[in-house]
This record gives sequence, C-alpha cells and structure tokens, in this order.
Amino acid sequence: MKEVVVISGKGGTGKTSITASFAVIGRDNIVVGDCDVDADDMHLLLEPDYKSTEDFYSGYTAVIDQEKCTACGKCMDVCRFKAVDNKIGKFEINSADCEGCGYCCVICPEKAITMQDAYVGEVFISGIKTGTEMVHARLKAGADNSGKLVARVKKIAGEIAKKDGKDLILIDGSPGIGCPVISSLSGADFVILVTEPTPSGIHDLKRVFELIQKFKIRSGLIINKHDLNLELSAELKDFAKNEGIKVLAEIPYEPDFTKAMTEGFTVVEYNNKTLKKILTEAWAEAEKEIYKEVIK
Ligand code: SF4
Ligand code: SF4
Repeated sequence: MKEVVVISGKGGTGKTSITASFAVIGRDNIVVGDCDVDADDMHLLLEPDYKSTEDFYSGYTAVIDQEKCTACGKCMDVCRFKAVDNKIGKFEINSADCEGCGYCCVICPEKAITMQDAYVGEVFISGIKTGTEMVHARLKAGADNSGKLVARVKKIAGEIAKKDGKDLILIDGSPGIGCPVISSLSGADFVILVTEPTPSGIHDLKRVFELIQKFKIRSGLIINKHDLNLELSAELKDFAKNEGIKVLAEIPYEPDFTKAMTEGFTVVEYNNKTLKKILTEAWAEAEKEIYKEVIK
C-alpha cells in the first residue's frame, strides 16, 4: 500500500480540485483522506454520505463545578490566558481560550475545577462517488490541534485501505509548512507539489520542498495556470530539474477549472477535454513514480 500526499506551499493553487480529480481518475482503488482540516473542501466535490462520525478530543480544558464554586475569583486571577469569565458572580471557563495548563485547577480552594478532555473537532468516514471511502474532518472554530487531527485522519484512512485491500491512500494536505503539513507528510511514499508561476508560488514551493527533503520523500510537480507567466514557469521547471522533481503536468489557465469546483464537479468530470487529458496523463505519470522501485 502506498500513500500519496498532495500539498502546496500556499492556499488557492487548485490543490484540492487536482486531488479530487485524481481520486475520480483512480476510482475505487483509492482511499481518500482530506487532511486540509482547517479548510476541508473535498466534501464539496466527492459527495460524501457521512456514514459515521467520531468526536475528536485532544489536550485538556478546565471545567468549573458550579455546585462547589464559591466565586472567590482566584482562578480568574491566575489564568494568564484570560480564559475565565466572570458573568455577574458566576465564574466560567471559556474553552476556546483555555490552554489546559491546569493552574486554576491546582489553586482552586474548593476543588471545584477539573481538567477534562478537550473537544476539538470531528472525524467523518464517508462513502464517496468514486465507489470508495473518504476520511475527512472538521476542526472546531478556534481549535489549534490540527496536526493531531490530521494524524487521526491518516490513521483511519490507512486502516480502511488495509481492511478493504486498497493499493493507495490519497491525501489532500494543508497549505503551508506548519504542524498539519508535517503531520500529513509523515509516512508518505510520494508527494505531489502544486504551485503557480508567481513570485510567491516559487518562494512557497521552495520552502515546502525544503520540508519534504527532511522526510526524504520523492516528489512530483504540477504547475497550475502555467501559461499566465511563462518566464516564471520556466524558473519553476529549472528548479524541479535541479532538485530531481518530476514535472507531472503544466495546466493552462482555463476558467472551467474554477467553474467546475463552484458547480460541485471535479475538473475531470467537467466538459473540458483539455483539462481532462492533462490531469489524466498527470495521474498516469504520478502512478509511474509512485510505484517506481527506488535504488538506494
Ligand atoms: S477558584 Fe474555584 S471557587 Fe474560586 S471562583 Fe474559581 S472555581 Fe470558583
Ligand atoms: S487550565 Fe490554565 S488556561 Fe485553562 S482556565 Fe485554567 S489557568 Fe486558564
């Protein structure tokens, strides 16, 4: 079983549309994981049926037992995260601000505060229109444990792939180089980098490539809207050549790319033969790389 992660150094490159298109091309051989948990959009394209949901807890949050609380205010005095509210003499913890340090719990003279598992989001397992399954998640607003949530999504996707005898797990990773991306890359066999020919696209691609080098994962590159700046596209291809990154596709600017997404279709389902051909060939090239035996 192989795991492929699609990432981009920044948002808005078309990463999710491309990943969903690959899921449709690969059909029921692929279990999909949406690890872009801060902006999960794969559900807009793959028609999930949300057949099961799991609450996800990570870290701790303080909870006040109002029966025991004598409203002394000491918890509010010691909380440097300003997570304790005083609502006309009733002290309450705002879980969105609570960092789970436990200080208030220790100092409360009435032992009215307990530390409880913090709810940070939900993980869903869904059947999708490709005939296989997708694991996806939603992070609670303000929660910041997305790296752990990504790890959970990947773990479940791996278990499903193993149980169902699927060859491939396809992960839509988060943009950037932070904790969720690092979590997405852990254990991956191949990375597909998606970028655009802009100065920030080049800069972000280099940053994210530095990261994947640390994981020693092979990679391929897709340049979206490559014809918007042929000079910068050439620079991207030079970078790829020098770093041993396989260029999988150069996608021209086509309004249908965005139109497909806004209408709830993947790009390869839309009536645009050029885009469909390019993405189908890109996935064929990616598969060759994914299954290539690497001599170390
Ligand atoms: S320290 Fe304890 S008793 Fe005092 S306000 Fe806070 S919860 Fe209530
Ligand atoms: S656990 Fe720490 S962060 Fe949370 S309310 Fe208590 S003192 Fe504040």
